[in-house]
Amino acid sequence: MSGKFFAALLLGACAVAGAQSYPSKPITLIVPFAAGGPTDVVARQVGTAMAKSLGQPIVVENRPSIGGIVGSEAVIRAEPDGYTLLIHNIGMATLPSLSRNLRFNPLRDFAYVGEVVDVPMTLVGRKDLPPTGFKELNVYLSEKRRQINLANAGIGTASHLCSLLLMSRLGVPMTSVPYKGAAPAMSDLMGRQVDLLCDQVTTTTQPIRGGLVKAYAATTKARLPTLPSVPTLVEQSTDGFEMTVWHGIYAPKRTPKEIIAKLSAALRHALVDKEFRDSMAKLGALPVAADRATPEGLQGQLEREIERWTPIIKQAEAYID
Ligand code: ASP
Repeated sequence: MSGKFFAALLLGACAVAGAQSYPSKPITLIVPFAAGGPTDVVARQVGTAMAKSLGQPIVVENRPSIGGIVGSEAVIRAEPDGYTLLIHNIGMATLPSLSRNLRFNPLRDFAYVGEVVDVPMTLVGRKDLPPTGFKELNVYLSEKRRQINLANAGIGTASHLCSLLLMSRLGVPMTSVPYKGAAPAMSDLMGRQVDLLCDQVTTTTQPIRGGLVKAYAATTKARLPTLPSVPTLVEQSTDGFEMTVWHGIYAPKRTPKEIIAKLSAALRHALVDKEFRDSMAKLGALPVAADRATPEGLQGQLEREIERWTPIIKQAEAYID
């Protein structure tokens, strides 16, 4: 037997043994945004629920950067052994058109575990912003235009996409203020350093209820049961739009199929876990159906969403700073 062939055999045998005993130590789940933001909230809850069936803890590691690019690249470069995973959201589908210097290809560079939850968004303003409702806000924005500081969670993120849609539908350019995640953007909005932010209900629900920010609209078709007094964008304006942020879990490209299957099964267990469902329901997030919490489900969603958002973003291009 040649040395090379023997080495290949040995490597293959080790990979199978590794997959069989997987997981035998804690798993790192990289959140490519700041702690306390919408992706972080979902990651911590789903990580705790998945750990129950995996028998090992899932440790969240925040690697905040614009668009979540740095954390995503760290997972692309990680050992494909199932011990380093990534959670990202709709931003994975919009980054290729929103970020001018993306060095990776979301469709080519990862293995997929599955989708996690759908999260609606809300348009919120600093609590002393004069307009009381969306109609007044619309008039106010048309007058102030670039004097308005419209925060977002970073170029390529869900909140960036939402702010672009808002500007392009209203035909009003504002000053975009990008952050490294929704949490620092929200904290500046509460501190009244910026005027407006479009952010996910997983982090806006509590500040809205506590009167720390002013809620102007939800991006859903119908009003949210968790925030029934907040009207939808489509109900208040013909320029309104719907937008839901989906989240998915990814692994390095060459992760063995057996490991992906174990992770994906743990994800589906997590999605029916009562504690997980209750925590999501309280914040207005919806766990996806089992067929979406699969590698094929996530891949299909990513392909469809890239196709869906690319022309919409092209139309809104004039509003990208
Ligand atoms: N991914 C979030 C967004 O796009 C940002 C975050 O989780 O901090 O709004």
